[in-house]
Amino acid sequence: MASEILSARDVDFLLFEWLRSEELFEREPFAQHSRETAEAVLELAETVATERFAPHARANDLQEPSFDGTTVTLIPEVGTALRAFADAGFLTAGVPESHGGEGVPTSVVSACLAWFHAANTATSGYSLLSMAAANLIRTHGTDEQRRLFAEPLAQGRFTGTMALSEPASGSNLADLLTRAIPQDDGTYRLFGRKMWISGGDHELADNIVHLVLARTPDAAPGTKGISIFIVPKCLVAEDGSLGERNDVVLAGINHKMGSRGTVNTAPVLGDGAHRPGGAAGAVGYLVGSIGQGLPIMFSMMNEARLGVGIAGTAVGYTGYLKSLAYARERLQGRPFGAKPTEPQVALTEHPDVRRMLLAQKAYVEGALALMLYCSRLVDDAHSLEGEAADEALALLGLLTPIAKSFPAQWCLEANSLAIQVMGGAGYTRDHDVEQHYRDNRLNAIHEGTHGIQGLDLLGRKVLLDGGRALGLLVARIHETAERATAAGESGEAYAVSLLAMTARLQEVTRLAGEAGGGADVLAEATAYLEGTGHLVIAWLWLEQWLAAHGKEGAFYDGKRAATAYFFTRELPKVGLWFDLVAAHDGLTTHLDPATL
Ligand SMILES: Cc1cc2nc3c(=O)[nH]c(=O)nc-3n(C[C@H](O)[C@H](O)[C@H](O)COP(=O)(O)OP(=O)(O)OC[C@H]3O[C@@H](n4cnc5c(N)ncnc54)[C@H](O)[C@@H]3O)c2cc1C
Repeated sequence: MASEILSARDVDFLLFEWLRSEELFEREPFAQHSRETAEAVLELAETVATERFAPHARANDLQEPSFDGTTVTLIPEVGTALRAFADAGFLTAGVPESHGGEGVPTSVVSACLAWFHAANTATSGYSLLSMAAANLIRTHGTDEQRRLFAEPLAQGRFTGTMALSEPASGSNLADLLTRAIPQDDGTYRLFGRKMWISGGDHELADNIVHLVLARTPDAAPGTKGISIFIVPKCLVAEDGSLGERNDVVLAGINHKMGSRGTVNTAPVLGDGAHRPGGAAGAVGYLVGSIGQGLPIMFSMMNEARLGVGIAGTAVGYTGYLKSLAYARERLQGRPFGAKPTEPQVALTEHPDVRRMLLAQKAYVEGALALMLYCSRLVDDAHSLEGEAADEALALLGLLTPIAKSFPAQWCLEANSLAIQVMGGAGYTRDHDVEQHYRDNRLNAIHEGTHGIQGLDLLGRKVLLDGGRALGLLVARIHETAERATAAGESGEAYAVSLLAMTARLQEVTRLAGEAGGGADVLAEATAYLEGTGHLVIAWLWLEQWLAAHGKEGAFYDGKRAATAYFFTRELPKVGLWFDLVAAHDGLTTHLDPATL
């Protein structure tokens, strides 16, 4: 029976029929792998996700983490699942062999992570954080930091956190207040309050490695004065053994709408709750140099934002599969014009239910294509050289805000449609889809909100870049359109619509640039993000249409139907978003808040 977690068939289509991942195994960094080893890793992901992650996804929500003032308690299945994840090698699957990993291409690892997030996104959150923390230390830390912190993180003995946000500093990190005071022995003592920190305390591992943003005395104001520190929950001796408890405790935990199994915490540093070395202050170790906190954190941002995009996609995907299975079984009503004496039909026989299922399919399969395309760009940047590698990196930077935002918005819409397809049953806790909706709602908020992604795309990635990366995207869209035109049939018509909307993107970008990217223009950054996001997904649907071209069977017919849906029902919406950018009429810039 096909899984209701994710579609192995679709993953296989995207990686091997569309992205031709075999080409990667001919390149030096991935030469030790083959299609067979990649398929074995994917199968292992499916098995561990199905057997260890999915079974407690509901319990993780119903019995959310609790805090008694000292200890955070989670259901035991979380620890068992994370152990299985580590034992199966997923914490280091994508790490280059030269750094002690298995060197599996990121595109394959991303597909594996989609299995875990679809099965249980809350438990998967801990692994994602540990992998990101280990990567940051591996890339920017000293040899000793790698040995004492990155290695145990990679083995699953420690877990990691990313401690950026503070109560008064969320989207705008420039104003964060946590202080780091240098000590004679080269360490720092940290004092301050953090907020919203995922995985900030628990008993899942021997130790927790917090990566904390803080300011040193006399640091420059704004983002230039921010540095990054390793602050372990327990100090670690030279030989790797655990020492005293560090001065970092919780003020409390946050009670969330969804994704409840990932404990969310409000840590306090330097309150004197513990006194390492006889003094208050959380002991911290500088990573990189002073003032490099944000550049270092942002160097990991593509990875973190792709991680959020994969989570959003996966949660949308499993909701689609579950509502589809329900709609195939549930008998309700008769086709238009049928007699009351005729038998009732399955929900899938009603065109409006098909519309909702097709919309979900178009969003979630389109989003998965985007996530794997971006992951392939990571692989290309690592395995190609010169201009080709630069091009992959530039395109990845441009697409990252879209990869973070499209799934958060449209795979959430898919989750809403999954509830709608199932009617009253979908709204109850007897089925998973209501939890998927709540779990997925987070993804437009953390790792930079939806609005912040829009500003990043239009302000930084397009206008500040002078349109270079955008030019690369436009060139790739043109190349796809050429192949679609040559393929004929509906490909020709799709190419015409796609090129027309791409020309509109170039036009509104030019207008935004001519207007100097001022406040009125940036006020429409979200419209720019959403319009460009839909255009990119349309492009990737045409890519999938081409990969399915000339092939027969329900699977390929499904790809053609979803392409038709996206081009006729979704792509036309782009015009409205782009009109708003072109007009940048200042409606919200000049609005008096008193009128709201
Ligand atoms: C469940 C959860 C887990 C999290 N995990 C972590 C974690 O592990 N580590 C961590 O450091 N943080 C974490 N965060 C924090 C998260 O990154 C922040 O919530 C997010 O950055 C937004 O900050 P804020 O909540 O203070 O909202 P605000 O910054 O107050 O924003 C509120 C609204 O105003 C908008 N807004 C704010 N400024 C602007 C602007 N300049 N222009 C336009 N619009 C603007 C935002 O887009 C948003 O819609 C987590 C948050 C949640 C809810």
